[in-house]
Amino acid sequence: MADVLVVGGGPAGLSAALFAEKNGLETTVFDTDGTWMHKAHLFNYPGVGSRDGSVFLDTLRNQVDNFGVERKQGEEVTDVAESGDGFTVTTEAGEYEAPYVVLATGANRDLAEDLGCELTDEGVVDADVTMETSVEDAYATGAMVRAEEWQAVISAGDGASAALNILSKEKGEHYHDFDVPADAEEAFGAMADSE
Ligand SMILES: Cc1cc2nc3c(=O)[nH]c(=O)nc-3n(C[C@H](O)[C@H](O)[C@H](O)COP(=O)(O)OP(=O)(O)OC[C@H]3O[C@@H](n4cnc5c(N)ncnc54)[C@H](O)[C@@H]3O)c2cc1C
Repeated sequence: MADVLVVGGGPAGLSAALFAEKNGLETTVFDTDGTWMHKAHLFNYPGVGSRDGSVFLDTLRNQVDNFGVERKQGEEVTDVAESGDGFTVTTEAGEYEAPYVVLATGANRDLAEDLGCELTDEGVVDADVTMETSVEDAYATGAMVRAEEWQAVISAGDGASAALNILSKEKGEHYHDFDVPADAEEAFGAMADSE
């Protein structure tokens, strides 16, 4: 059983998965590859000079794969429901359970509404600064929580916020994911700066 189930594999979902798995939570991502990143070219992602959106996505997918995220590419989620102490995610291939769910379905808010997450007056999913919704342990990230202010870096930040909040809950204290140059040298040696 996973610790975290992520629905959606754009910048929001993959960022949530990266932070969760890197810090010890078993994470599964379901994605139907409809991300807007395939239409985008990034000039405004800090630290990235100029990058085709699909190329950016390839790098991000490799990054989460390298940390061991289980990425179920092409598997559509048809339902998310509360069950016991967590959630059941249903796809055409079966049912999956976890104590936490991160919704990252872009501008599509159907699964969040069906789960019972409250919406704002503007009709977007209501989430606090940690991206937790009105349903405890269910998070909403990225385009689904904003009316129009859709940017890749904001979605990625939302995903990181959700994962750090889950990690804080699991560890029972506020959590951050800090690495230092010595960690990179240990991992990559002379190739410490890497994509
Ligand atoms: C033409 C265009 C140009 C853009 N240019 C820029 C730019 O220059 N800079 C910038 O910052 N942003 C740009 N954007 C916006 C950027 O692409 C979005 O802000 C970003 O992709 C949103 O990320 P997200 O993770 O919230 O959602 P998305 O990237 O939309 O990802 C959502 C993912 O969830 C999947 N999904 C949805 N429902 C399900 C389900 N039921 N089961 C499984 N998977 C599901 C989708 O298939 C998709 O892959 C552009 C967008 C467009 C359309």
